[in-house]
Amino acid sequence: MRRDRRMRDVPSDNVITMDHVYKSYAKGAAALNGVSLQIKQGEFVFIVGDSGSGKSTLIKLLLRELTATRGYINVLGYDLTTIKHRKIPKFRRNLGIVFQDFRLLKDRNVYENVAFAQRIIQVSTANIRRNVPSILATVGLADKYKSKPSQLSGGEQQRVALARALVNRPLILLADEPTGNLDPRNSWEIMKLLEQVNQNGTTVVVVTHNKEIVNQMQKRVITMKQGVIVEDEENGGYRDED
Ligand code: ADP
Ligand code: MG
Repeated sequence: MRRDRRMRDVPSDNVITMDHVYKSYAKGAAALNGVSLQIKQGEFVFIVGDSGSGKSTLIKLLLRELTATRGYINVLGYDLTTIKHRKIPKFRRNLGIVFQDFRLLKDRNVYENVAFAQRIIQVSTANIRRNVPSILATVGLADKYKSKPSQLSGGEQQRVALARALVNRPLILLADEPTGNLDPRNSWEIMKLLEQVNQNGTTVVVVTHNKEIVNQMQKRVITMKQGVIVEDEENGGYRDED
């Protein structure tokens, strides 16, 4: 963690701070309309809310894929409102990212899909040969390392995506509807893996629509509506629209 870049007003155990964040796209109403939140190191947080409520925008701001129109964002001590472009890749090395649509390289096998994340940060081949099988074992895919994505089920593909997100040992894992394309059984398997990752110390932020999972897992739940946080509860549940 980079203490030198932390603002004075960011509490020392926060890994994510958003302070009155607004985001407007070129067209249409503001996607985020004054969002403030703090997430501490080691937390597991669900972000829920209707389609269009700003969840993906929030995740993209945390990745510094987007910049805020107004407000302050600090992730792991990096001030994302002032970070230099050339520092962004180094910042992103601290993050693991999983999307709904897996985003695997279709012409590469499972091993290569995961190894790719390590090659980007110039891990040695010897270390890649150790790390990739280890993380594939963690997600239960040790024996599928030679398969192409097209030969795997949706649940298996998402586990490859999860292995790829985890192989560089991120401090924060961000997942935007990771179970959106999965059946209930595979959804639970992915969530249990995310919980395990969290128990090993990684901060986990999961956007989801899966009410049953949110209600059963009893984690912190942040509910968004029309670009604002309308609820933020410890051991929360998924609220239906009133
Ligand atoms: P969610 O992930 O909760 O469904 P999003 O963050 O994707 O919500 O979208 C929030 C709002 O911003 C929506 O009204 C959406 O139409 C709008 N929006 C999202 N991305 C863009 C974009 N690239 N350009 C214009 N509007 C966008
Ligand atoms: Mg979304």
